[in-house]
Amino acid sequence: MPKHIASGLKYLAAVKLREQGYFQKDIADRLGMDRSTVSHYLNGRNLSWGSIEVAETVTSCCNRDFLYMTYSLTGDLDNTRTILGILIEQEFSANVKDTCIGCGVCVDACLMNNIEIVDLKCNISTEGCCGCLECQLNCPTNSIQILEVQNLNK
Ligand code: SF4
Ligand code: SF4
Repeated sequence: MPKHIASGLKYLAAVKLREQGYFQKDIADRLGMDRSTVSHYLNGRNLSWGSIEVAETVTSCCNRDFLYMTYSLTGDLDNTRTILGILIEQEFSANVKDTCIGCGVCVDACLMNNIEIVDLKCNISTEGCCGCLECQLNCPTNSIQILEVQNLNK
C-alpha cells in the first residue's frame, strides 16, 4: 500500500482543520494520528512534497474516485469517511421516489454509511454524503436522485 499518499491525504485534512481553528490535539484525535506527527505535518516536516501533490490529485478526482482511492490507500473505512468529510466542500440533497421497494441495495452501496431502511423505505441522511452517487447508480428502481446544493470550492 502506498502509505505516503495516505499520509499526504492526512496532511491536507490536518491543514484544513487547522485553518478551521482546530487545536493539534483535536486534529490528532479526529484523524487517528499521534500529536507529534500532526505537529510535524503542520510544520512541513516528515512529508515529501511529492506525496502532497499526489494527494491533491486524488482530491481533485470525481468524488467517487476520491472515495475509492482513499479507501484503497488507507484500508480503513472510518479514516476514509473522516478524510472525505473534511476535504469535500460540497453539500448534497437526496430525493427518494415512491417507487422505492425497500430492497436495501443502496444501504450496502453507501460506504459513507448514510442510508438506512425505515418503514420499508430508503432513508438517506445527507449529513455525511460525499456525492459518490453509488446509491443512485445501484438502485434497481431508479428511485434515488442525489443533487449538489452547495459547493464551497466555487
Ligand atoms: S436501492 Fe432503491 S429500491 Fe432499494 S431501498 Fe434503495 S432506493 Fe429503495
Ligand atoms: S451519494 Fe449515496 S452512496 Fe454516496 S455517500 Fe451519498 S448517500 Fe452514500
